[in-house]
Amino acid sequence: MTENQEYDVAIVGAGAAGLGAARALTQQGKSFVLFEASHRIGGRGYTEEVLPGVPFDLGCHWMHSASLNPMVKFADDFGVSYTKGRSSRAIHSNGKWSDDDDFADWDSFNERQQKLIEKSALSDTDCSTFDATEREHRWTPLYDYWSSVLASCDVDQISIADFMAYNDTGENWPLKGGYGTLLSHLGADFRVSLNCAVQTINWSDKGVKLDTTKGTVRAKRVLVTVSTGILAAGDISFVPELPDWKSEAVSGLPLGNHNRICLAYDRDVFGTDVPSGVTTDAIDDVPMAFDIRPFGFNYVVGLTGGRFADWLERAGQQASLDYAEKKLQALFGSDITKHVTAHIVTAWRSDPWTKGAYSCALPGQAHQRAELAKPIDEIIYFAGEATSPEFYSTAHGAFLSGIAAAEEMT
Ligand SMILES: Cc1cc2nc3c(=O)[nH]c(=O)nc-3n(C[C@H](O)[C@H](O)[C@H](O)COP(=O)(O)OP(=O)(O)OC[C@H]3O[C@@H](n4cnc5c(N)ncnc54)[C@H](O)[C@@H]3O)c2cc1C
Repeated sequence: MTENQEYDVAIVGAGAAGLGAARALTQQGKSFVLFEASHRIGGRGYTEEVLPGVPFDLGCHWMHSASLNPMVKFADDFGVSYTKGRSSRAIHSNGKWSDDDDFADWDSFNERQQKLIEKSALSDTDCSTFDATEREHRWTPLYDYWSSVLASCDVDQISIADFMAYNDTGENWPLKGGYGTLLSHLGADFRVSLNCAVQTINWSDKGVKLDTTKGTVRAKRVLVTVSTGILAAGDISFVPELPDWKSEAVSGLPLGNHNRICLAYDRDVFGTDVPSGVTTDAIDDVPMAFDIRPFGFNYVVGLTGGRFADWLERAGQQASLDYAEKKLQALFGSDITKHVTAHIVTAWRSDPWTKGAYSCALPGQAHQRAELAKPIDEIIYFAGEATSPEFYSTAHGAFLSGIAAAEEMT
């Protein structure tokens, strides 16, 4: 990259949105430079091996709304294997495993909560999931826990207008080979400036001038795909500053937190009868869901969300492991963690290039996704999961937003 060269577009961030944009700009024959602050592409799509040959997704894992999800075709094309969901489930509640009646009760409670949200959404005033739903039921803590995992924020922070805008077909297909693996295939054809953080975007003159940790570059336009966590922290300086309406959009769409605590075993300690999804509905504690031996791999994954995820992340990696182990022992006996040989504990709030998990529109702020997506003076464009009207918080939503922004530039 040279200071004298002017690219058509500078893309900031090589996550799903940046890769979607890079693909679209390539098809348009535009010149672009793609900056990525970290040492790898994929952003919040990141697969590591927890055991030799055993992939584990630290970030996105499921292809949501699969029949509308362009990633399914890419997974087929690149040979990244997936399944069409994991089905068996169990809830451990009040010290015992739930029976069919409990499940029927839990399902009908969820339906009632959904109807309450739909009813509230008819009102002119947006409110939170907390305000819209039943609060005193035995299943309320479990409902709130799942909300915090799915939205990465707690029920009092989730706008029901935003919740209703999400396009959920109910098809959630997990990638055995890893979502991060899929994204690295998608980025394999592009030259990416890795370890190259954009520090300043100067748009005071014609086009843009970007100061990066590796030098200065000029482009006609810039596409910013970093998370709202990064934008809110002011990690990139804009000269002149972004207009107030754009800053308000960023503030209305904060990142929540969602962490995955993976415990890997040197053998199968669960056997074949254990359901693939187990949730503890602890009355005096925060519930926790586990994915047990996904795809037959010898690991389990515990999930945390919202403020509790932040709290546990601050307590540290060992505290997170201890917590997950204690929960597993309460479910399966104290020997169940004897053969744990490896682990990965995510810490998305502390990730310097993300600063959280995914965006959540605060009550009254659902319209900010459209505001965040709007370009400024046909020079600064925005993409990323937070800008997606119907597939926010997802990798495919981010990818599609990158394509849409690139197309809007033509
Ligand atoms: C734990 C977890 C589980 C999830 N599960 C799912 C799931 O199952 N299914 C699903 O669809 N989605 C899931 N998601 C959400 C999904 O991962 C994200 O919505 C999506 O990957 C976001 O893509 P993006 O391009 O918008 O942002 P990012 O992936 O954050 O990409 C932005 C990029 O910008 C880079 N960057 C930051 N600052 C700078 C800078 N100054 N200069 C240059 N580069 C910079 C970052 O390093 C990053 O690579 C999950 C996320 C998490 C954290």
